[in-house]
Amino acid sequence: MKKKFVFATNNAHKLEEVSAILGKKIELLSMKDIDCNVDIPETADTFEGNALIKARYIFENYHLDCFADDTGLEVEALNGAPGVYSARYAGDAHDSEANMKKLLKEMENVKNRRARFRTVFALIINGKEHLFEGIVKGEIIKNRKGTSGFGYDPVFVPEGYSQTFAEMGNELKNKISHRAMATQKLCHFLLMK
Ligand code: IMP
Repeated sequence: MKKKFVFATNNAHKLEEVSAILGKKIELLSMKDIDCNVDIPETADTFEGNALIKARYIFENYHLDCFADDTGLEVEALNGAPGVYSARYAGDAHDSEANMKKLLKEMENVKNRRARFRTVFALIINGKEHLFEGIVKGEIIKNRKGTSGFGYDPVFVPEGYSQTFAEMGNELKNKISHRAMATQKLCHFLLMK
């Protein structure tokens, strides 16, 4: 029988991305599939904490093996901000344009442009918790470039590349991204089980 895991996300794109790597050996269930329509509040101040809150909610209420993720941008000169507040940096509207505008303003006269994207997956399997991390280092440029992707992609140039995530397009971005790294670690662990 195929092993089943709940991916505690409402994001269909993330579900598709992980399903593609896991292939046919593992059945992934969405929150909708288990009739969970709750927007689980992300109240922790770390990615690990938020990913664990979501995975624990599913485990405690549905008693199913599950995992959840949390991601954000950490800027060195801003002491790791926007971090867990990446989506709502400029307010609860979750507006990417406003978030980038605020970031560029905060960094107007900042020389150290180093930043990184970080994704953490929290997995609960047989009641035991595991964490997997993916990081991509890079820098924040002064003006937006490119139109693909989402979030802070137009202002982030990954190390070893000259284009922003938004200029390189999703095919390359999805191979080298923080999310891809963390997803691969999680999937490798699940497939070895
Ligand atoms: P989430 O935890 O994956 O929903 O990500 C939280 C926020 O981090 C998003 O709303 C974006 O602002 C930002 N973010 C996460 N991943 C990326 C990315 O790959 N590119 C740009 N921004 C991202």
